[in-house]
Amino acid sequence: MNKKVWLPIVAGLVCAACSTVGLTGRKQLNIISESEILSASQTEYQTYMKSAKLSTDAAATAVVKNVAQRIASAAMAYLQASGQTADMANYAWEFNLVQDNERNAFCMPGGKIVVYSGMLDLIGNGASRDDELAAVIGHEVGHAIAKHGNERASQQMVASLGSSVLGAVVANKSQQTQQAVAIAYGLGAQYGALLPFSRKQELEADYIGIVLATLAGYDADAAVTLWQKMEAASQSTTAEFMSTHPSSTTRISQLQKDIPKVKSTYGQK
Ligand SMILES: [Zn+2]
Repeated sequence: MNKKVWLPIVAGLVCAACSTVGLTGRKQLNIISESEILSASQTEYQTYMKSAKLSTDAAATAVVKNVAQRIASAAMAYLQASGQTADMANYAWEFNLVQDNERNAFCMPGGKIVVYSGMLDLIGNGASRDDELAAVIGHEVGHAIAKHGNERASQQMVASLGSSVLGAVVANKSQQTQQAVAIAYGLGAQYGALLPFSRKQELEADYIGIVLATLAGYDADAAVTLWQKMEAASQSTTAEFMSTHPSSTTRISQLQKDIPKVKSTYGQK
C-alpha cells in the first residue's frame, strides 16, 4: 500500500504515544522514548562534531556562547515553571560556533546547540546582533523543547516501516532509532538530505523562540528583522536553512501578531 495512504492510519493506531507540546498545547506523535532519542542524538552529535570545524574567531564564539547560554537558562526556567522538571535532567547544554558558510543553526535533543558562521555573517555586527542571534537560537531551542526531533524521527520511523512491524520495532529499536534520528537530522550524509520540519513545527518553534528570547531579556522584534534578512538573502542564493526552515510572509506576519502578546505576557514588567 502507498505509504502516504497508511500513514494517518498508523498515526491513529499509535496515538497512545501522543504527547502534548507545552506553551502551544498541540498534540504530537512521539513513539520513541526520550532516552532512545537522547542516546541516538548524542551519537549523531558526536559524529558531527568530529568532522565539524570549530570557529577560530574567539570573539564571535564568545558572542554565540553568551546568547545561547541565556536562551538555555530561559528554557530551563520555563521547564521548571511549567512543572516539566523531569525533562530538565535531559539537558546537558553545549554551545558551538562552527566554521561553515551555510546560514544555518540547530539544537539537537539534549541541548546541543550549533550555530554556523554563515548565520553570524548574515546577522552582521549591528546593534540588533544579539537580539537576532537570540531569535535564531530561541527558534532552534524551541524545536528541541517541543521535541520536534522525536516527532520527526517518529514520523520517519512510521513512514519507513509497515504498521505490522511497528509494535515489534518500538519494543526493540536501537538501530532503527539511530537511523530515524540520523535521517531526521541529516547529519549522517549516507542518509541524504535533512528532513524538513513541518510548517506547524516551524511556526511553533517561532512562537517558543520569541517567548524564550523575551524571557532571556532580548528584544523579540528582532525575529522579524532576522527573517527579513533571511528572505532577502535567499533571493540571491540557495540557502540550506531556507530549504529546511521555509520562510514566508505568513511566518513574518504571524510573528508580528504574536510578539506584542508575548512581550506583555513574558516581558519584564
Ligand atoms: Zn526551524
